Amino acid sequence: MKIYEKLLLENKAWAQERKQDDPTFFSRLSEIQTPEFLWIGCSDSRVPANEITNTQPGEIFVHRNIANMVVHTDVNLLSVLDYAVTHLKVKHVIVCGHYGCGGVKAAMTNHNYNKILNMWLRNIKDVFSLHKTELNGIPNEESKFDRLVELNVQEQVMHLAKTSIIQQAWKNEQRPHLHGWVYGLKDGLIKPVFEMEAGSEIDPLYKYDDL
Ligand SMILES: [Zn+2]
Repeated sequence: MKIYEKLLLENKAWAQERKQDDPTFFSRLSEIQTPEFLWIGCSDSRVPANEITNTQPGEIFVHRNIANMVVHTDVNLLSVLDYAVTHLKVKHVIVCGHYGCGGVKAAMTNHNYNKILNMWLRNIKDVFSLHKTELNGIPNEESKFDRLVELNVQEQVMHLAKTSIIQQAWKNEQRPHLHGWVYGLKDGLIKPVFEMEAGSEIDPLYKYDDL
């Protein structure tokens, strides 16, 4: 059997098991999805949103990219955000990073990752630059790396609040709440590191007054 064929076989077994547990599972989910959460996570294969939160299909709307970034020119991310917030009306948006993130680690080096990856990692270097006084004051490299992971999550949450998508939902419906979490690869635990309640004050420079 080819390695990918195992996935298809496992899928068959999974679908059968689901149906046995709950005969209306698929027919119910095929009609409508009403997730309360949007998850913006890292593409890392070790941080799957549903597994680590013990949630089921239909519960979390998911977007993942390298190092869980919220880049204001990323049409993919913004489309997911707009759909989840404006149409699905999620109550919470979670940016979940993880310790040991390869993207964050790469951004801490001076290595040339060539063109496209350099462009993406540049966004993380900008987070480092913004917090360089704090980060350069940490003598231990591992602790510095951990702290950059946390600060990166914090900055991405703040980027969410700078979008008109979030500001409009805050103004009209007092949702969604924004959460910054970091997952630990070594213990499987999620640590909340930053929160922004709906309607939180933001830097006036980024505030739209004619929503
Ligand atoms: Zn990662």
